[in-house]
Amino acid sequence: MTLSDILTHLGETREAYFSAVAPPIIQSSNFAFSDLASWRAAFADELSHHVYTRGNNPTTAILRQKLAALEGTEDCLVFASGAGAIAAAVLSNVQAGDHVVCQQHPYSWTSALLRKFLPRFGIGCTFVDGTQVANIAAAFRPNTRVLYLESPNTMTFECQDLAACADLARSRGVITIADNSYCSPIYQNPAAFGIDIVVHSGTKYLNGHSDVVVGVLCASRAMVRRIFESELMTLGGILGPHDAALVLRGLRTLPLRIACSDASARFLIEKLEHHPKVERIWYPFHTSFPQRELAMRQMRGCGGLFSVQFRTPSMERMEAFVHRLRRFLLAVSWGGYESLVVPMVGFYGIPGRDEPHLPWSFCRFYVGLEDPQWLWEDLEQAMEVL
Ligand SMILES: *Cc1c(COP(=O)(O)O)cnc(C)c1O
Repeated sequence: MTLSDILTHLGETREAYFSAVAPPIIQSSNFAFSDLASWRAAFADELSHHVYTRGNNPTTAILRQKLAALEGTEDCLVFASGAGAIAAAVLSNVQAGDHVVCQQHPYSWTSALLRKFLPRFGIGCTFVDGTQVANIAAAFRPNTRVLYLESPNTMTFECQDLAACADLARSRGVITIADNSYCSPIYQNPAAFGIDIVVHSGTKYLNGHSDVVVGVLCASRAMVRRIFESELMTLGGILGPHDAALVLRGLRTLPLRIACSDASARFLIEKLEHHPKVERIWYPFHTSFPQRELAMRQMRGCGGLFSVQFRTPSMERMEAFVHRLRRFLLAVSWGGYESLVVPMVGFYGIPGRDEPHLPWSFCRFYVGLEDPQWLWEDLEQAMEVL
C-alpha cells in the first residue's frame, strides 16, 4: 500500500456514508443493536464492534487504521494526549517490583512518569546515555521489563540504535517502546527495526495545525488488544470523534508539510552555520552531528526541528534576542504552520523547578510552513543584539 493509498482510501468505506469525500464525524457516545445476537457478538469483542465510544467509534477507527498503516504495525490506539498514550504503553507492561530502563533525556512528562509516578507503585527506573547500546545493556536487571527510547529526543536529538536496542531487549524478554514524535512515520518507522510499541504525540506533526492534543500507540494486534482491555478502557483517556476528524484532516497533508519544514530548516541552518554569533548547531543530518551516520541509517529525513547554541556574553543579551524575534512565536510544541522558538533561558529562574541540563544560550527552533527567507530575516535582525 502506498502513502497515497493510505491517506486517500484506507478505512474510508464511503458507500457507508453517502459517498462523502471527507471522513464523517460520528458524534455519538453509543450505538444501538437490532437484536440480542448482534449485541452478544459485539460484547464478545468490543475492540472490533461499535458499542460505546470510550471503546470504539467509527471516525476514530478510520484514524487508527491509517496510523497503523503509516507505522507498519497491525493495529493502533489513539488517546487524549501523547502523555496518555505513553502512560498506557508503559503501565500495560509493568507491575510492582519491575524495572524500566530509559534513555537519559526523554520528554519532560515521560521523565516525570518514570521518576515520580511509577515509584509510588514499586516500579523503578534507570536513566542511561542511550547513544551507546552497551550502556543500555549494562543497566538491564533481572526484573527489567521495559526499555523506553526516544530517538531522536527533542532538544539535542540524541539517537539510539533502534535495531540494536530491539535485538538486545528481545534477547532479555524486555518490551521496547519508542517515542517517534520527532520523525513522524514519514521519516522513521521504529517497528521496522523490531521495536514493539511506537508512541507519538500526535499533537505535533500528525495533526499539524496546533489545534488538537492527541496521542498515538502503534503495536501488534495482540498488544493493542491487551492495552485496550486494560489501560484504555479503565483509565479512559480517549480521543473524541471531533478531534479524530481534525487529525484525519491533518494527516492528508502530513507528507507535504514535513517535507516543507525539512527543506526550510536546512535553508536556515545553511545561513546560520557560518554566522559569528552561532557556537553550535544540532540537527541529526548536519555534518557536525556526532551520530549523523546512525541518524542517516535509520531516518529518511529530519523535519523542522533544530537547535542552536549562540555565542553571547550574557543572559541579558540572550533574553533581548528572544524578545527581538517577531516572526518566530515564543511557544512550546511543534509541527503546526507557525514557526516557534523554545529558549532554554526561559527555564532558568523558575521557582520550584530544577535548572535545565542545557545552557541558557541554547534555543530549539521549529520551522513551520512560512517563507524561509522571511524567517531568516527575523533571525538575522534578532541576532544583532547577541
Ligand atoms: C509533546 C511530546 C509528548 C507529549 O505529548 P502530548 O500530546 O503533549 O501529551 C511526548 N513526547 C514528545 C517527544 C513530545 O514532544
